[in-house]
Amino acid sequence: MIKPRLFSPGPSSVPEKVNLAMAQPIIHHRSAEFQEISERVNSSLQKLFCTSQPVLTLTSSGTGAIEATMQNLFSVGDKGIFVNNGKFAERLGSMMRGFGMETIEITVDWGTSVRHEQLIEALRKHPDLKCVWLVHSETSTGVFTDIELCAKIIHENSEALVCVDGISSVGVHTLLFDSWQIDVAITSSQKGLMMPPGLAFVCLSEQAWKFSKKSTLPKYYFDLAKAKTAWLKNSTPWTPAINLVVGLDISLNQILNEGLENVWNRHELLSKSVRAGIKAVDLKLFGFPASHAVTAIELPDNGTEFLSILKNKHKITVASGQDKLKNIIFRIGHLGYSDEGDALTILSAIEQSLKAVGHNFTAGAGVMAVQQTILQTIQQNK
Ligand SMILES: *Cc1c(COP(=O)(O)O)cnc(C)c1O
Repeated sequence: MIKPRLFSPGPSSVPEKVNLAMAQPIIHHRSAEFQEISERVNSSLQKLFCTSQPVLTLTSSGTGAIEATMQNLFSVGDKGIFVNNGKFAERLGSMMRGFGMETIEITVDWGTSVRHEQLIEALRKHPDLKCVWLVHSETSTGVFTDIELCAKIIHENSEALVCVDGISSVGVHTLLFDSWQIDVAITSSQKGLMMPPGLAFVCLSEQAWKFSKKSTLPKYYFDLAKAKTAWLKNSTPWTPAINLVVGLDISLNQILNEGLENVWNRHELLSKSVRAGIKAVDLKLFGFPASHAVTAIELPDNGTEFLSILKNKHKITVASGQDKLKNIIFRIGHLGYSDEGDALTILSAIEQSLKAVGHNFTAGAGVMAVQQTILQTIQQNK
């Protein structure tokens, strides 16, 4: 017998108690009972985003929340920068273009993060910018971008809104919406929040809400002003994904009980220990600086066979490379419901699969490196 294990960087694993909560008989979304749950969820989401602004819950995947933001804040011809350092960053640009916006692309090698001089130069060259879009954790390449610093640079050099795709970073990396002066932050349920897909979250600053008054793009389902009015009454304009919200109440409670700081530290440890393990089995890490949500690794020789053994013999689902990184890298998620046991397990399975394809390394070295990283951290925290 082998247990199937999900190590993809979204969707990520869901705790049993969240699944059980979602399996309860459905309740009505206009009932007092559901309103009470919504009130708790809304307040937990503000804690998660470290904000006093409303965090709106939309029934869609994360892409829907990005689309909603563009429709609600901007107009045809509005100019925006996007920093293209991966598949999801690239998508931000094509979405802007899809809505008739003028896009300025800052091109960055996939596997790296934007250089601050690049950002400053682009900001100074385009004084009439409405927005700058950045991906906090670029899931396609495993790269982290320093949003705190980028937001500071953007505010110092322009009037543009700082818009953050935090889909694989919220609940993983520190993200302080208010104190970093972020204007837009977005996430979705199936990454750091230990939930199935289906919900997306968007938080807007006061400045961003001002933009929403001037936007002329058509909107209806994703009219965020309507969503905000409903939010004030712990409600939604349309039928929400009731059972998902019931599950979210449990998962957010688990996150906040663990403590946000502890959750961020746990992800850092998992990422660090898996990276140590990967180096110890003589594989090459891809991407720098590393996101704590996902570790990207160059495929070994016989990579296809390696991945197939991992999947079929060990029942482990990792993600392969996307687009131009297809057949070049594979990716391990550490998102959400993921612990030290998972870090040890993935290295153990990787070692066995590598041995099966004839990769040369010392057996046990990967697992040992994970274990040593964990032990060092325990020692440091004493
Ligand atoms: C997963 C992901 C997306 C896409 O989100 P969906 O929920 O699939 O729409 C966008 N950006 C990043 C960084 C992601 O990790």
